[in-house]
Amino acid sequence: MKKKRRCESPVEEPAVGGFGDGGRKQYPLRRKRSRSPEENSAGGKEKKIREDASAYLDINNYSLYKELGKGSFGKVVLASYTIKNQLTAIKIIEKQREDDLKYVRREASVLQIASRCPFLCRAMATFQTQSLILLALEYVSGGTLQNIIKTRGHLNSEQILFYASEIVVGIKFLHKNGIVHRDLKPENILVDDQGHIKICDFGLVCTRMYGEKTRCGYYGTPGYTAPQVLSEENYDAGADWWSFGVILYEMATGKLPFSPKGTLEQQAETIINGVPEYPDSLSATLRDLIEQLLKKEADQRLGVNGNIRHHPFFSTLKWKRVKKRKLESPIKPKPAKGLVKKDISFPKENPSETRMLKKFNYVDPSWLE
Ligand code: ADP
Ligand code: MG
Repeated sequence: MKKKRRCESPVEEPAVGGFGDGGRKQYPLRRKRSRSPEENSAGGKEKKIREDASAYLDINNYSLYKELGKGSFGKVVLASYTIKNQLTAIKIIEKQREDDLKYVRREASVLQIASRCPFLCRAMATFQTQSLILLALEYVSGGTLQNIIKTRGHLNSEQILFYASEIVVGIKFLHKNGIVHRDLKPENILVDDQGHIKICDFGLVCTRMYGEKTRCGYYGTPGYTAPQVLSEENYDAGADWWSFGVILYEMATGKLPFSPKGTLEQQAETIINGVPEYPDSLSATLRDLIEQLLKKEADQRLGVNGNIRHHPFFSTLKWKRVKKRKLESPIKPKPAKGLVKKDISFPKENPSETRMLKKFNYVDPSWLE
């Protein structure tokens, strides 16, 4: 049931700005040539930066520890960049299907943009071998929101308010940058060691969604997708606000608002026409917020129609503090266990696979410091 499907969409050019590209690297830290007596030492520093950056793009400098998750695209493995002992979560994708590469490029471009918002999971480096794509992500050690909901059954209002507020900031940042996530669900919301959220998995995003722009095509995970997505009508950022409504309902009740039973068609029928049941335990403001988000008509849905931050559910919040990650998480994740190296290695190279993606390699400047 919790499977995502991809289908053809209009071609969207990725916006990946590379720090390097295969053997011929371009570095963003280029400086004007100095004529001062320090010329030699400045040149030496630049050379060192270049060397450091290329070391991050070499698969041999990573050692794998354990699998963190598996999805439809590939697997995510906890790894260490051995030269500096830095931890990272590497998403390993095999370059098998030409079509997938389009999504990978888009994912990599959003992972760079993500470095500007604290509630999005960013890339530390993106690189490749002959047959593998490697997305070295910041390691987010506190597990997923899905685990949190599962272990607790459901969350209380204070906990929901905390997670919801940070997710809202993350979604709004994406939308402001013309990005619609299209696969928001608790499995794709990670929690860091302080308990703050990081939205991850940009594998199904659509980009350049500015103004009146819409998309069509069924993407995502059935229980979380908006009626417009399921019925292959045009949709915009409102698709994410629907998914957010489903996530709020799930946090509050431990269940999905629309039964995930039956065939895909039956589930779609329930989502398009059904009305969720709201337990009496839900506060009036939270119920209203969910109802506003689960509006079947996209143009009436909160987020698209009206500013979600002004909803009474959030009335006690200071959004400036939320944005600065100043709120304290009501749920403290357990400290991550010590690293035990499992017998795990990168998939074997496929010698027949030789396509190299141009302008793909990238190293986050913070890793070079
Ligand atoms: P897919 O597109 O295949 O669903 P995801 O990016 O969602 O891949 O990753 C799959 C799972 O791996 C996530 O649900 C999560 O459990 C884990 N994971 C992904 N990124 C990270 C990360 N940066 N840190 C820790 N765990 C992660
Ligand atoms: Mg995922």
